[in-house]
Amino acid sequence: MSHTVEQIALKSSSPGTQRFLKVHKFKAATPGPKVYMQAALHADEWPGLLTLQHLIAELIELDKRNLLRGEIVIVPYANPIGMDQRINGVVLGRHSFSAEGNFNRHWPDFSAVTKGLLAKDPQSSVEQYRQGLREAVALLPTHTPLAELKATLLALSIDADIVLDLHCDLQALVHIYANYRQRQESELLAQCMRSPIVLLEDEPGGSPFDAAHILPWIAIESSGCPVSCFTATVELRGFADVDDELAKADAQGLLNFLTARDIVQAPAKDMIETKVLTTDLEAVDSVRATATGILCWTKQLGEWVEKGELIAQVVNLESDTPAQGRTAIYSRTQGMLFTTNIAKLVCEGDNVGKIAGTQVLKNEAGGGLLSL
Ligand SMILES: [Zn+2]
Repeated sequence: MSHTVEQIALKSSSPGTQRFLKVHKFKAATPGPKVYMQAALHADEWPGLLTLQHLIAELIELDKRNLLRGEIVIVPYANPIGMDQRINGVVLGRHSFSAEGNFNRHWPDFSAVTKGLLAKDPQSSVEQYRQGLREAVALLPTHTPLAELKATLLALSIDADIVLDLHCDLQALVHIYANYRQRQESELLAQCMRSPIVLLEDEPGGSPFDAAHILPWIAIESSGCPVSCFTATVELRGFADVDDELAKADAQGLLNFLTARDIVQAPAKDMIETKVLTTDLEAVDSVRATATGILCWTKQLGEWVEKGELIAQVVNLESDTPAQGRTAIYSRTQGMLFTTNIAKLVCEGDNVGKIAGTQVLKNEAGGGLLSL
């Protein structure tokens, strides 16, 4: 048996309080890849929290039967700072109250570390690069609670072969963000997670957690060194899609992916062939509210829409003649409506949904992460 649980102390937010991370580690006797998973870096995105509880319970049983290979590190809640940001009973877990921004932006880029090692020794091994990355993480500043949290999470993850960051949207289908270099692996993950959408990008912009793990490898890819970390952000539907049945199925999906990668040595279970639309992140249309008022969708999540098709209406509450007081929202692309906003009272210009199309769009959403 290899399962251990660590408790890592974090800076206190105020006198008389304590913060800490729990870390579950499975270090099998049989060597193999290192896998890292975490949930709720955006602390108001909870499906992954329950999924990882189910996953850890399964892994403990598999570990007892010696059916694991390599190392699996799981941080079941990645952001105790954000989970504590409650106002009037609502957790506001996307942006830090400390004015340090979105919790999933501004992660460090260690490209200079791997490039420096390459310049010193073009024959550097993957392990030598990983050692360099570990040393760079150890030098990160820890002067604020958030800086310390980031350095702590990176110390656990930076040398992993596989990094999965579990998030969710407002209302959404399961979808996966990954680098276009890792299409095959992403589609395998999508099959395991029954994710109908895979969004591929080069550099998503904003420096999210997953980019911190792949950029150092991309920086040296011309040397012939393999991109040695598969990293993906898995969006587990909408924030209210939290129940044991979904979480159990998602945990099994993660196990099936680990089985496919020969890390879990037990047969995959409950695989259902899923039709996966793999497309460019720049082919995602961010649907904007065309007016201020109450939003009424005419298309449902998961529906295919045509370019120019009516997808929603905004009801103008100031209209003297309500029968005429509606403003249409038309789709600017052909594709699948895969996320919608939960808010029904919207302002003109609000991002109210996303459509995964197949053609790169020349609009403001292209070329970067879609929402702040
Ligand atoms: Zn998120």
